[in-house]
Amino acid sequence: MENIGHGGKEIIERVLPKDAAIKRVAELKAAKVKELDVRLQMATEIIDIAYGFFSPLEGFMTKADVESVCNNMLLADGKTVWSIPIVFDISEEELQKSGIKQYDEVLLTYTGNPFAIFDITDIYTLDKKEVAMKVYGTTEDKHPGVKRTYQYQDKFLGGKITLLNPPKINEPFTRFWLTPKQMRERFKEKGWEMIINHQTRNVPHTGHEWLMKGAYLGAYGSMMVDKPRGGVLVNAMIGSKRPGDYIDEAIILCQEAQGKHGYFREDIFLTTCTLWDIRYAGPKEAIFHAALRTNLGCTHHMFGRDHAGVGTYYDPYDAHRIFDRLPKGSLNIIPIFNLDWWFCPVCDEVTYMGLCGHKDKKASFSGTLIRSIIQDGVKPPRRIFRPEVFDMIMECAEKYGFGDAFVTEDYLKRRNPVFTIEPLK
Ligand SMILES: [Zn+2]
Repeated sequence: MENIGHGGKEIIERVLPKDAAIKRVAELKAAKVKELDVRLQMATEIIDIAYGFFSPLEGFMTKADVESVCNNMLLADGKTVWSIPIVFDISEEELQKSGIKQYDEVLLTYTGNPFAIFDITDIYTLDKKEVAMKVYGTTEDKHPGVKRTYQYQDKFLGGKITLLNPPKINEPFTRFWLTPKQMRERFKEKGWEMIINHQTRNVPHTGHEWLMKGAYLGAYGSMMVDKPRGGVLVNAMIGSKRPGDYIDEAIILCQEAQGKHGYFREDIFLTTCTLWDIRYAGPKEAIFHAALRTNLGCTHHMFGRDHAGVGTYYDPYDAHRIFDRLPKGSLNIIPIFNLDWWFCPVCDEVTYMGLCGHKDKKASFSGTLIRSIIQDGVKPPRRIFRPEVFDMIMECAEKYGFGDAFVTEDYLKRRNPVFTIEPLK
C-alpha cells in the first residue's frame, strides 16, 4: 500500500527495462512504425508521465479528459481531481505527412534517439481560447500559461506512453532528480513518515526559510518528543524559463545550502527537483502541485502567498481558497496555508503576518528588493540572506549563469541541458 499516489491509485511506472527496450525498438523499426521527434516541452512531460509524477495519468489526455478537467476539475473518470490539461500537440501538416491514425503505435524520438512508445487512442482539436479561460481564468496572451496554450499546434494526440530510454540527468541536477518511487525509498531510509513539501522556483531568502520553519512547526505540533519522524522536502520545479527568473542551478544548490550549513538539521531536510514547466495557473496550479506531491509521497504541502501566480491575475490567497471548494477526501495531502513572512525592525526579527503587530513598520521581502541585493553582489545582512546561501548565488552566477544569477537570453541559448536522451544501446 505504500506506493499509493494521487486518486488513491498505485503509482504508475511505465518504463521498459533496457534489454526489453532495445528489443522493442528493433521490432518497431522492422515493422516500420511511424516515428515522431518531440520537442523539449513534450519530452519533459513524457518523462513525468512514465515515472508516475502525473499518476494516475498513464499518457497524454484524450479530449474527454481535457474537457472534464476544464469543466469540472476532474479527469474523465468523474472522480479524480485534476486541474491542468496534459496534452500532446501536432500540426495538421505533420499529422498528414506522418499518416498517423487512431490506434497507431508510434515511436517517439528525442534529439533523434529512441525515447518512448505512444499508443494513440484519440486525435482531436480543442478550442484553445475556451481552455485558457477555464484553466487560467483569462484569455490574455500576456499570461504565460495562456501564451503556451495558444502556441500549441492545432491537433492533439491522446494515449498511453511507455518510456524506452531513461533520461540522463546532467550536472548539477543528477543527485537531486528522484522518481516518485525513488523519492519514497529515500523517505523510508530517512525514517520519515511526515513529509512537508515546499514548492519553489526561488533561491531562499530568510523569508522562505521561515516559511518552511513555520510549516514544520505547525505540522509537528502534534508529534511526541521521541517521534521526530519527518522533515521538509524542498522540491524545485525545473523547466522552461523566462528571462529574469532565477537560473535553475542557483535554485537547487542554494536550497541545498540551507541544510548543508545547518539552518535546517540535515536529518530533517532534503532538496530535490522535478521537471515541470510552470504554467503560473495560481489556484489551479496549486491543486496540480498537491496531486504531484502526493505522488512523491508527501503528506503535507505548503501554499504561500500568491502560490504559482503571475502578475495580478489572481488574488494572493486564491490558491488557498480553492481547496475549500474541493469535495472532502479528494486529496490525500494536507495543505498548510502560509501568510506573509516579513522582517520587522521593532520585533527585530523575521516574523509573520499573523503574529507581528507592527504592520506599518514591516520590511517585506519584495522581489524588487531581493533582486537589487543580488544584482549589487554586496553581501546583505544575514537576516535577509544567509551568508552561505548568498555566496552560493554568486558562485552559481559565475559557474552556470554567464555572470548572472537571473536568466538571460544568453543563458537560454548556452546553458547545459538539464537532461539528455542518449543513443539506446
Ligand atoms: Zn513587529
